[in-house]
Amino acid sequence: MPEKIRIIVNEDRCYLCGGCAGVCPTLAIRVSSSKWEFFQDKCISCRICINACPVGALSAEPLEGEL
Ligand code: SF4
Ligand code: SF4
Repeated sequence: MPEKIRIIVNEDRCYLCGGCAGVCPTLAIRVSSSKWEFFQDKCISCRICINACPVGALSAEPLEGEL
């Protein structure tokens, strides 16, 4: 099992392109014209979104101890 993580967005970099939401296999990210949203209960900590963001706006934070 990979380490459980929370995905965090750097709002100064994110331009709401929707790319991360498009590659997330579990729909744990939703992007609209006005905001980026993350749903922890759906995330499987695969990190695909982090690698997919063209501007490096996403990062991971360990969730250890918070479950
Ligand atoms: S780590 Fe994986 S499951 Fe979690 S939000 Fe990113 S792409 Fe989706
Ligand atoms: S891929 Fe990056 S820039 Fe695009 S919506 Fe996701 S976090 Fe924002």
